[in-house]
Amino acid sequence: MIYDVIIIGGGPAGLSAAVYSSRSRLKTLLIEKAGCGGQIAITDELENYPGFDEGINGFDIAVKMEKQARKFGTEIVYGEVLSLDMQDKLKKVILADQIYMTKTVIIASGAKFKKLNIKGEAEFMGRGVSYCATCDGPFFRNKEIAVIGGGNSALQEALYLTRFAGKVNLIHRRDEFRAVKILQERVLKDPKINVILSAMVEEIEGSESIEKIRIKNIKNGQTNELSVSGVFIFVGWTPNTKFLTESKIVLNEDGYILTNDEMQTSIPGVFACGDIRKKLLRQVVTAAGDGATASVAAQHYIESYI
Ligand code: NAP
Repeated sequence: MIYDVIIIGGGPAGLSAAVYSSRSRLKTLLIEKAGCGGQIAITDELENYPGFDEGINGFDIAVKMEKQARKFGTEIVYGEVLSLDMQDKLKKVILADQIYMTKTVIIASGAKFKKLNIKGEAEFMGRGVSYCATCDGPFFRNKEIAVIGGGNSALQEALYLTRFAGKVNLIHRRDEFRAVKILQERVLKDPKINVILSAMVEEIEGSESIEKIRIKNIKNGQTNELSVSGVFIFVGWTPNTKFLTESKIVLNEDGYILTNDEMQTSIPGVFACGDIRKKLLRQVVTAAGDGATASVAAQHYIESYI
């Protein structure tokens, strides 16, 4: 079996590429490691995706996107892509127990959350340290917690966590947030959120569960302790490119794939879309646009070269 398009990754970028490819009657296979949806599957509310004036739950939109891709004929298999063999015009997508052949590849493998790499983080992971507010927020009903980070994720998730926690300490290393102004305004107005700026968390401490964190003020060097029972970490993302280590795809210094504006990578017939790509704005709306473009570019490639 030779596919026209194999899409790696089932987040909004990959699923949009799948909708466009299968709707164009290309033989399309999407390979996803765990479950479709990517980061949005663990996002409570998406309020900046056009058309949903009341906002929409991330998981719900992911389920709809997957259904839509399957409706047009996309095949979806679950497994981890280990490497790509792109020496010949016909490319091989290699999994542990299977090799798939394809004319084009669309890489939409997204990014995974960064860790802080501080003492106690690994020890308490899953026992109070979390990277997912929708998954773990309900465990902290009326408790005091810490949220670390100053980007859109940290502020959005801190606001979400106020539904459960008694108090949310939002700790950021600089004295201004990176997040959009509307989230900053909401955070500063929220009586349950205590903002701690210019501060780094140095250690997470406890015995059976988390009891406190040690924070250092980076302006005056003073350290102090804060009693919390949960620590939510949102300090950005790292691109999922491990399976590309042996490939000759050109990445930038941070590991993101370089493409042109048609999503073409440095290897003909191989495209990249969504958060895996070097780009200005990583949002569901831009991921969807990237996916559509990558699919049409793949179609043009097949028509002209094969
Ligand atoms: P981000 O924008 O990269 O922000 C990461 C935050 O973590 C920054 O405030 C950064 O501090 C801080 N940080 C990084 N390393 C740290 C460390 N070692 N110790 C302490 N703090 C550290 O990541 P994100 O918030 O996850 O967002 C990722 C992408 O998703 C962005 O493009 C974002 O716009 C998008 N997103 C959008 C929405 C939305 O539109 N509603 C929601 C969530 C995510 P500095 O600021 O000092 O660098």
